[in-house]
Amino acid sequence: MLRFISFGSGSSGNCYYLYTDNDGLLIDVGIGVRLLKKSFHNYGVPQNVHHILITHDHADHVKSVGSFSRDFKLPVYATSKVHRGIEQNCCVRCKILPEYKKEIEPNVPLVLGDFKIMPFHVPHDSQDCVGYQVESEGIVFVLMTDVGHVTDEMKNLIGSANYLVLEANHDDEMLRNGPYPEHLKSRIKSKIGHLSNRECGVALAENATPNLKHVWLCHLSEENNHPELARKTIEQVLRGYGIIAGADFKLDVLKRKVPSEIQELI
Ligand SMILES: [Zn+2]
Ligand SMILES: [Zn+2]
Repeated sequence: MLRFISFGSGSSGNCYYLYTDNDGLLIDVGIGVRLLKKSFHNYGVPQNVHHILITHDHADHVKSVGSFSRDFKLPVYATSKVHRGIEQNCCVRCKILPEYKKEIEPNVPLVLGDFKIMPFHVPHDSQDCVGYQVESEGIVFVLMTDVGHVTDEMKNLIGSANYLVLEANHDDEMLRNGPYPEHLKSRIKSKIGHLSNRECGVALAENATPNLKHVWLCHLSEENNHPELARKTIEQVLRGYGIIAGADFKLDVLKRKVPSEIQELI
């Protein structure tokens, strides 16, 4: 059976775990290695991680990738630009050893153990950014985080998903009236910044198919969003399209620092 856990989601650290009975992969390692090891232990889940996939080179996604990869002798898959970005990122103190660096390219599929993976381009202001469509045991799981805007390709991928992790970073009004300096507000709102609750809702409403079973909202801002507000806004947008969250598909918000329950993807 395919299962999913979020170990952390947001600017203080992102890390997602997708695993079968025999194989597992991590997407991003932006939380501390000690916390990650503790989470594996607490959950009693098999530490059968064999692959690490990276979305992009911002610290909240890669802080511990070098040390985790060394400790467990794991290959790290990222685009060449993201690998270069990690190399240059001073927040990543322990770098990835050359023998563990594996290069991927958007739209070039790869098979890793139990997983068929398609990386795809996501517009964001890092060196490069990708999302992942992962197929295993006939289930399609799609993850899109740090999304400046939703491209046509991404819309199709939302349409392909049985299970979807999608960014709902900020509430427009909270961002506008919030404490951030103007340049940071414009960065977040830009086409290569982050996705708002409303944009997330529209992307879901316009592209979800009856095959979609469960959506997890990720990367919520601590200052410019609130879990209940994100959910309410998105439910409202969906209702405008005749879609009822909770009935047509499940909708949950991933916590920033508290790991999720083990989610069974069936
Ligand atoms: Zn991020
Ligand atoms: Zn980012």
